[in-house]
Amino acid sequence: MTPREKKRLLAILATLYPEPRSELDFSNEYQLLIAVMLSAQCTDKKVNQVTPGLFQKYSSFKALSKAKLPDVENIIRPINYFKTKSRNIIATAGEIVSRFQGDVPKTHEDLTSLPGVGRKTANVVLGETGAAHSLPVDTHVFRVARRLGLSNGATPDAVEEDLKKLFPSSEWRNLHHRLIFHGRRVCGARKPNCEGCALKAICPTGAA
Ligand code: SF4
Repeated sequence: MTPREKKRLLAILATLYPEPRSELDFSNEYQLLIAVMLSAQCTDKKVNQVTPGLFQKYSSFKALSKAKLPDVENIIRPINYFKTKSRNIIATAGEIVSRFQGDVPKTHEDLTSLPGVGRKTANVVLGETGAAHSLPVDTHVFRVARRLGLSNGATPDAVEEDLKKLFPSSEWRNLHHRLIFHGRRVCGARKPNCEGCALKAICPTGAA
């Protein structure tokens, strides 16, 4: 993709999605980390249905670290892998209290040392908190970036590396959210709406 095409892509995405942001509901860093952990293999909508009850009962890492496993399982039961996620969020809350004075860690290394926190979760949290520039690649970013010819990477990590080389770090967070929006609204997994897509003229898949 030429510099001119990249500029055009960013401009079209910015027009389509002027407010790039997470669709998870959260109002502080505690809620952000827990919501992102719960969102693995699960829709944001479903996570948003269980987190109000969870955060009402446990309003901090300290409170969550003392929670009883069956109580947390009952609250987050509607989401995928609720048993594993319940164990992980309680354990992570405990480690944040004991190792990080109750604050969300600000480095990738520290974040991924927590139970149930992988590369993508750490990237999302770092980007949202502004602790570091990051470009998390979820299923939507992976699919849309490849269809747009931005990467041929076979794994999310490879696609992330390609996108980071193509775009300046100041664009990463917004690009991440805008590619997710586009994947959810237009460039769906099974049936991309190429005819109605504003990116069709610069998309090798849509033009094919
Ligand atoms: S033209 Fe089609 S494949 Fe390309 S981004 Fe748009 S919907 Fe996706």
